[in-house]
Amino acid sequence: MDLIDLTITQLHDGFKKNKFTSVQVTKAYLEQIKKNDNDIGAYLAVTEDFALNQAEKADKIIQAWQSDSEKGSELITEFPLLCGVPCAIKDNILVEGMQATAGSKMLENYIAPYDATVIKKLKADGAVILGKVNLDEFAMGVSTENSAFKVTKNPHDLTRVSGGSSGGAAAAVAAKEACFTLGSDTGGSIRLPASFCGVVGLNPTYGAVSRYGAIALASSLDQIGPITKNVQDTKIVFDAIKGKDSMDATSVEIPNKHKIRNSKFEIRNLKIGVPKEYFAKGIDPAVEKIIKDVIGKAKSAGAEIVEISLPNTKYAIATYYIIVPSEASANLARYDGIRYGYSEILNSKFEIRNLLDVYVKSRGAGFGPEPKRRILVGTHALSSGYYDAYYKKAQEVRQLITQDFTDAFKKVDVIFTPTSPIPAFKIGEKSSDPISMYLMDIYTCPLKLAGVPAISLPVGFVDKLPVGLQIIGNHFEEDKILTVASEIEKLVQ
Ligand code: GLN
Repeated sequence: MDLIDLTITQLHDGFKKNKFTSVQVTKAYLEQIKKNDNDIGAYLAVTEDFALNQAEKADKIIQAWQSDSEKGSELITEFPLLCGVPCAIKDNILVEGMQATAGSKMLENYIAPYDATVIKKLKADGAVILGKVNLDEFAMGVSTENSAFKVTKNPHDLTRVSGGSSGGAAAAVAAKEACFTLGSDTGGSIRLPASFCGVVGLNPTYGAVSRYGAIALASSLDQIGPITKNVQDTKIVFDAIKGKDSMDATSVEIPNKHKIRNSKFEIRNLKIGVPKEYFAKGIDPAVEKIIKDVIGKAKSAGAEIVEISLPNTKYAIATYYIIVPSEASANLARYDGIRYGYSEILNSKFEIRNLLDVYVKSRGAGFGPEPKRRILVGTHALSSGYYDAYYKKAQEVRQLITQDFTDAFKKVDVIFTPTSPIPAFKIGEKSSDPISMYLMDIYTCPLKLAGVPAISLPVGFVDKLPVGLQIIGNHFEEDKILTVASEIEKLVQ
């Protein structure tokens, strides 16, 4: 087995036994990036020197532990599971001194002045950061085709998209160009690319992970989460980044109500809800078959399968695509050509006569088509005279969708759905049709409106393209869905 094939736990074990060093593993990943990434296009920046430096530091920590443990010292605490493990970070999460483009020309030259809280935590654990990975502009999209820089290709088929918006993060793990990555999920951006690329991705409960230092898209929905090779690794990364942070008022400490390995949550004691609305028209029959087969396996393993209804699912896309543009229009107002980002002030091509010219020209040139579309929709939805009809109405429907999930979790422990109605589509196939792109969020965005957690894990293939199962839990039940996901992972192997 190559070093780049190993999971976080396998690396940790190897470090402990002195089988290899973090520098060796980091070099193996850097080598793989050099060899592969011209084809895949996952990385926007590779931070080789920084990574090697961090790896050396991690090796010192590991060596210190080894020499202590050889001496038989009883006081030694084990080094963190992520110590020495190479990862990559979506380019809308700030890493001090590195670029943070958010996939936009607007922030092409922006260098992060501080670390996001999740990065502080990774660094404190000794994780090695290999670089920054591609995304749709400001995380708006399902394919990375909206990136201002490049399209990240699907490692399973280079003619297809990697998914989005965290396409670079999912492709990097799938192509073994990072052991794990951090992505962000507003309406599906961790789970959809994880599903397309055949890797595991977790969208945590809203508030479970600090958003401080993440470039905002829609603040009532954005969450940072891990993308990894398997479920166990997702748990490790999630445990490392979760928790309350004084820099993000919406973050909370996770109440430890569902401890992993609690026998109550074994698969044979589970009630699995299957929402009928998620198997209606639009789903690829081959995807449906794979998901139904997995549900059948869970049933054979003793789980009770309950058909449930989430009746307001049909309003989710419309609601989501009012709330997200509204919040995005407010969040993106800061890119005004003065305080942040791309500016036309010094560009002699245009005559800048007044302040409005600075805004109009800078924003006109700095933003791509999708952010512009959302700023226009969002500004309209929030404007006086339309606010009640659009934004306020969307918030009311959001309550109904949330209630659907509350009702469902009175009857079942977890909900199983496909992550996406179809496998990865061809590059360019949907580029001219924003609505067909928006419809890709049909299974991933409703639960976001309710703020509950969900994981996507690979459960099969259609024509060599991976298919993901989505497991949804109630608020702060990450441990429960992770436990269920690892049982399913075993069942489909
Ligand atoms: N596809 C969704 C959107 O474009 C999800 C994006 C996300 O989760 N960041 O809004």
